[in-house]
Amino acid sequence: MAPSGCAVCGIDTNLVCKNCKSAGYCSSTCQAKDLALHQLLCGKLQPFLEANPRPENNYTTTHKLALLFDKNENSPEFIWIETKITMSDDGTYNLTCDLSEWLGYDGDADGGSGDGEAFIHARHDKKIQVWKASGAIAQNPGIFTLTEGGWDFGMVDDAYPDRLRGTIIGMGVESLKDDTRVTKYRDVTLDDLRVALSCFLEDSYMFDVHKSHEDGYNPYVILDQPEWFKAVKINNREEYFSKTNPFQEVMLNRNMRQWHSDKSAISELMGITLLVRKFPLYRDTFKDRINPEAISLLLNVNTSEDNEFWGRVPFPKYDSGKDPTFLVFRKDKQEITKQQVEALSSYCQVVLCQVLEEPEEWSWEKEDQEAVLDVYCSAEKFEEYFETFKLEKVAEGDETWVDASPPSGMRAAGIAEEDPEPGAKRRRVTSPPADDEDEVSEDENSEDETSEERHRRFLAYANWKVNLALGRG
Ligand SMILES: [Zn+2]
Ligand SMILES: [Zn+2]
Repeated sequence: MAPSGCAVCGIDTNLVCKNCKSAGYCSSTCQAKDLALHQLLCGKLQPFLEANPRPENNYTTTHKLALLFDKNENSPEFIWIETKITMSDDGTYNLTCDLSEWLGYDGDADGGSGDGEAFIHARHDKKIQVWKASGAIAQNPGIFTLTEGGWDFGMVDDAYPDRLRGTIIGMGVESLKDDTRVTKYRDVTLDDLRVALSCFLEDSYMFDVHKSHEDGYNPYVILDQPEWFKAVKINNREEYFSKTNPFQEVMLNRNMRQWHSDKSAISELMGITLLVRKFPLYRDTFKDRINPEAISLLLNVNTSEDNEFWGRVPFPKYDSGKDPTFLVFRKDKQEITKQQVEALSSYCQVVLCQVLEEPEEWSWEKEDQEAVLDVYCSAEKFEEYFETFKLEKVAEGDETWVDASPPSGMRAAGIAEEDPEPGAKRRRVTSPPADDEDEVSEDENSEDETSEERHRRFLAYANWKVNLALGRG
């Protein structure tokens, strides 16, 4: 019954929990990560075995120690389950277990059917067979607590995945590699509690850190494993919890199934590609308000000549008054913080919306658009903005901004790389707007305006608009 392998990371170890001797740990670090979950059962094991010795077995039945997540209880318990070897008519042997006492229909509509549904879940070579009552609809309070904050592909509403309802039993099993048939039932160890939690979270592609538990973190889930990375959720401001600041950090599962997202072309030009997706998946939660913080990241910067949506969000897909909550994450699955997304979103709304807007009196050419993008969709301009934005936030007393820095991996302005000398000058154009406009009308009539002059004119215009927007005009 002694476990093999660390309950958290799976590497071989001979060290076990001193108290229950039923969970293996390679180090005090792994033990600490497992502590909150482990403590739910560590102190219960010996008293249970003393009060409930293994029932008498005969040659066809054996009782195995199992985990019970009762739909009426807040925390897991141990139970003995009778397992049986039966012979079919065709002479083959079957392993069965009798769960009717636990999963049976009890006259309560929430009880489900006693038939039960089983699935096998593996983690670090440990396998458990998880049983639930068919058709159970009651929320299981213990499992809800363990998984709180997780968002599951199987959710029927925003509260609880369907497959985790009703009473659930976890049996320790062995099976052949890549085979789901049980070859042997075994007693569970406390390592299996971590296997069970990983099963409950199997379809959780997102973990809402903010929502779970009082101190902000669900203590049972280990989110720093390599499979989780930091992303940002931008709530629609209509949602009650996001009136003040719609930006929230969440953890995404690196192994999540691929889903459709839109690419933020702006961020791509800056050298880090952000993916933006409507959220949640299967819920019709369209609010009759737009979510400008999120969709501003999707400004259209496609410079193809026939692009009539230049500088705007792709209407009617977005900005049609029905934009809910969004997830924003880095395509390279590096972490991104809420400060970084908030500053970029603000940059898009305050600066880019201004500079990408075509002046009525001029017509843009592809080269003009590209020249403006080269300057404004760059790390240089954004980082400058980030510093100002950060100072404002810190001045407002928001301490989360004190150590904030722009995302890693952004690239410097494209022009400067390809054409350092004139590019550097272009970005310094700061003519007063009035003079600028005069020059503009002269230049318009001039036949021999070079593309260099033209770019300077567009950038001066862009600069003027940005200064105006930033209140420096
Ligand atoms: Zn370990
Ligand atoms: Zn223990």
